[in-house]
Amino acid sequence: MRRHTHLCRGYLDCNTHRFSDYMEPMESFEQIYREILKANKVVISSHRSPDGDSIGCSLGLYHFLRKLSKDVHIVHPDLAPEFLQWVEGAEQIICYDTTPELAIAALTDADLLISVDYNAPNRVGTSLEPFVRAFKGRKVVIDHHLEPDLTFYDLVLSDTTAGSTSELIYKLIEASGNDHLIDRQIGTPLYLGIMTDTGSFRFPSMKAETHEILARLMRAGVVHYEVHEKVFDTNTVERLKLRGYAISEKLELIPARPIAYMSLTQSELERFNYQKGDTEGLVNVALSVEGIKVAAFFAEKDGVVKISFRSKGEFYVNQLASDHFEGGGHKYAAGGVSHEGIVKAVEKFKSLISNYFPEK
Ligand code: 5GP
Ligand code: MN
Repeated sequence: MRRHTHLCRGYLDCNTHRFSDYMEPMESFEQIYREILKANKVVISSHRSPDGDSIGCSLGLYHFLRKLSKDVHIVHPDLAPEFLQWVEGAEQIICYDTTPELAIAALTDADLLISVDYNAPNRVGTSLEPFVRAFKGRKVVIDHHLEPDLTFYDLVLSDTTAGSTSELIYKLIEASGNDHLIDRQIGTPLYLGIMTDTGSFRFPSMKAETHEILARLMRAGVVHYEVHEKVFDTNTVERLKLRGYAISEKLELIPARPIAYMSLTQSELERFNYQKGDTEGLVNVALSVEGIKVAAFFAEKDGVVKISFRSKGEFYVNQLASDHFEGGGHKYAAGGVSHEGIVKAVEKFKSLISNYFPEK
């Protein structure tokens, strides 16, 4: 259980030591670094369905901690898609799905858990969650999602204005006075995470400061074009055909509304020999239609419908995801699931449009 004795951006009432007007409390990078120095064995954990940022910040932090001579393991619930497997150290990630006994042993042995790029233990999925919850040591979260779980963690470093958790790991290293340790090995995953979570440096979360960080990563030896090529220029023909099919046959627009969606059934995915990651970014294609401000993407896998939401401007999608699809996320990028089949999931989304995205 966390104790509220830390820095917290001035929202702590100094007399009562209570949060009078609730705002997100936040530890400083220095406090997190001190916690790392105290630890003997560290486990870095991240959310289910790895993306560029969860892989990037896990590995950036991992290589940093190894340079500090820490005993460190990364435990992820499941394997990253192929286009993220090339990053140095990715082969060291312990996946609960593949080797649960190693994942449990790493969690049991460690005295510090650092959760990166997720805000609550349930984001690691139902099979790994009990072992994360049972963690006996100190627990730290470094994240940029809204509403971090303050009851679970001892130290919370939550910056919801950050475009990626990888950027926060860069800042942690810098604040700890160790920027001289940043090299290609640490820098490449951090560049990857910043690149993917900012939509290749274009989302509103991108700041001038982020470009400065990227410049420093390039000076430290990161070969930027290799990262872009490995992520974006490694399509299989089947993946491209699946995407072509989704765009030409399955893109639907809601009449007279700035809303578009796509859906793919399990048999459609199988027709194109679907591999993990093949539908990544299709929701952004729907959002790229001129005038569209809300996009949804539905894909049915093993009876569960995974949904991605994206939005722009005055429309936010995180509330819809958490209220109705067991999910959540950021204002402009959220996700969730449905267990009612793809037809019902799409119908439910359409029935909620007028509540969540009212006509102005
Ligand atoms: P994606 O559409 O890329 O799967 O997810 C976009 C964002 O939505 C993620 O960065 C994450 O913040 C959030 N998200 C996706 N799926 C879930 C989910 O099942 N639960 C929660 N709480 N957030 C999710
Ligand atoms: Mn992220």
